[in-house]
Amino acid sequence: MKTNKPVCITGASGFIAAHIVRELLERGYHVRGTVRKSPENYPFLLALPGASERLELVRADLLADGSYDQAVEGCDYVMHTASPYEINVKNPQTDLVDPAVNGTETILESCLKSGTVKRVIFTSSIAAITDEPDSTKVFSEKDWNTMSSLDRNPYHFSKTVAELAAWDFIMKKRPRFDLVTVNPFMVIGPSIGPSLNTSNQIIRDIMTGVYPGIMDLNWGFVDVRDVARAHVLAMETDTASGRYLCSGEAMHMRELVALLKSSGFNSFALPKIDLTGKVGTMLMKALSFTQPKDTGIYIRTTIGRTMRYDNSKIRRELGISFMPVKESLIETVNDMIKWGHLPLPKH
Ligand code: NAP
Repeated sequence: MKTNKPVCITGASGFIAAHIVRELLERGYHVRGTVRKSPENYPFLLALPGASERLELVRADLLADGSYDQAVEGCDYVMHTASPYEINVKNPQTDLVDPAVNGTETILESCLKSGTVKRVIFTSSIAAITDEPDSTKVFSEKDWNTMSSLDRNPYHFSKTVAELAAWDFIMKKRPRFDLVTVNPFMVIGPSIGPSLNTSNQIIRDIMTGVYPGIMDLNWGFVDVRDVARAHVLAMETDTASGRYLCSGEAMHMRELVALLKSSGFNSFALPKIDLTGKVGTMLMKALSFTQPKDTGIYIRTTIGRTMRYDNSKIRRELGISFMPVKESLIETVNDMIKWGHLPLPKH
């Protein structure tokens, strides 16, 4: 056990954060999670093993100054995961960037005031590394997304400016605590709560006919339980430092569809037409203009490009090994069926 004081985790109700709460409780820690509503709204957190003795839920909001002072009081470690994760928003500045950036600064200010915090573990994203795969390049922690803006992949922009704001805070204010970031790629896996997370929703969309065909897209996948473990290891490992790109294997949409087909999910509306060639990619780029604005931009910046990345730093320094993506994907689908986000497969 690294600390006997509560470990604070922001946005405890979230897909990733709920797994971090579970992992911390399982390891015997006291957890103080921040949420936006009163605790009785989160029965799935209160029912976690160890929660009745060691989980405290307190209310806080990223947009309210000083909101996290009470939450971080007396803590050695703070994990900041809360941030809006949505793709098509009305106003990217107020819906994404303000809570991401102002929220990060607010929490770091609270940590500074506390005088006790030793380390902040910040949930960043691959989005802060790049929003455009480049077939000639292998991405790593050294890379920064310099392309996104309020008009181009605004979610990616919000994650980039929030992480930059966090490092800037450390440089300028030189607090007693250090900062470690975990930068996951597409996080999938079973959900502790009933909501459908944006990343799992992509898998559901692939299974429910939202995509007209199989496109030349590939993603790096990481199981939510591995992401939770990475956060806890980033806290427990004294020598952890800097950024950690957190992703297992990459998978092409073609392989993903084939895997789902051969795993008993053939009755779902999986895409059939192969649009992975040059003509298909041109067609999809043209069709992307009929999609909601940010989905369209995302397709145009990623389609036809192979994403390659180096995950050796997290494996070497935190000792993480990643769950095979196939296993994680099948569990994700079965979990979405369990929660009613997908119907039962027909046999
Ligand atoms: P999620 O389930 O949507 O969780 C987001 C959390 O942020 C929720 O607890 C939400 O609270 C909270 N939040 C949003 N706006 C807030 C505000 N104004 N004040 C206080 N809390 C607020 O998403 P997730 O996938 O777990 O994401 C967690 C973190 O991981 C985010 O920082 C996200 O950018 C990052 N990430 C996710 C992925 C992925 O593939 N899922 C990949 C890389 C990085 P409510 O429950 O009240 O809405």
